[in-house]
Amino acid sequence: RNLSWSKDVLAKKPKEYWDYEKMIVKWGNLEDYEVTQKIGRGKYSEVFTGFHVPTNKKCVIKILKPVKKKKIKREIKILQNVSKGPNIVALLDVVRDPLTKTPCLIFEHINNTDWKSLYPKLTPYDIKFYLYQVLKALDYSHSQGLMHRDVKPHNVMIDHDKREVRLIDWGLAEFYHPLTEYNVRVASRHYKGPELLVDDMLYDYSLDMWSFGCMLAGMTFRKEPFFAGADNVDQLYKIAKVLGTDLLNDYLDAYDLELELEVEQRLGTLPRKQWSAFKTKDNAERCSPEALELIDKMLRYDPAARILPREAMQHAYFEEVRKQESSK
Ligand code: ATP
Repeated sequence: RNLSWSKDVLAKKPKEYWDYEKMIVKWGNLEDYEVTQKIGRGKYSEVFTGFHVPTNKKCVIKILKPVKKKKIKREIKILQNVSKGPNIVALLDVVRDPLTKTPCLIFEHINNTDWKSLYPKLTPYDIKFYLYQVLKALDYSHSQGLMHRDVKPHNVMIDHDKREVRLIDWGLAEFYHPLTEYNVRVASRHYKGPELLVDDMLYDYSLDMWSFGCMLAGMTFRKEPFFAGADNVDQLYKIAKVLGTDLLNDYLDAYDLELELEVEQRLGTLPRKQWSAFKTKDNAERCSPEALELIDKMLRYDPAARILPREAMQHAYFEEVRKQESSK
């Protein structure tokens, strides 16, 4: 493997930064918070709006379901490491019920509009602006040695009135150590990179760029999710129907990977499609040559061939946003 040691940012951090199992959590005061309304339920938590009693400030209370202590510590440590970064949800406190020992994470509240109602009405500029903000969050997180591993519309909170973006749900995030094999059962199916679907456990930060590319393609083509697989094998099939099987085989050969026979037979031989083939009357306004070029630089089978967040931010597609940001 072509190892780039520049990815090894944890080598320059003290052990306490990444050795989360040894962390001793400083629990805050549970009585300081009151729950008002349920706003979400995930696999690992129940999420409520609430407020901080002493200041009356609104917040979000994420009550974790009983999972391994190790996973809870990982989420807390990662949030403590990144949550002051750009466009990353701020962690305000961690508290625990003294009787049940149920841990709760306290976050800033974002007045999010659900993506299903928001995305259809965004202008091409809005899309660029919001996606640029997500790239800032990813660039920062990767620079801090962390892969998010669950990038998807559900985890990108947008307050459209304030034009604020926050990347949330760091429950699947992980520290990146070179030459480490990671669990491929991460990310939501429609945003899983090919590496996860072919059992390539030596993946890295570039996984997030695949998921992000799926969001860019979904928003650009008004087709969310862009790759709508019914199961993991079908997910790879949906990807191969767009990128073709020749490039998939190039990727597998380059990394000495093999598909299960059943999967190989399911895929067969598929041609590569042009990105412009997804242009329709309804999405033409969003399908600039720059948008299609950037999608192409993200949605690559080979993780090492994908554009990095920092490079993507410099791409012509974001020119208008960069101009706006530099004139602020
Ligand atoms: P999942 O299994 O869906 O990934 P989870 O258990 O990991 O969920 P989160 O994704 O962190 O939990 O939160 C679940 C939902 O709660 C989010 O999709 C979002 O709708 C809402 N939510 C979480 N944090 C915030 C926040 N800071 N502001 C507003 N809404 C939030």
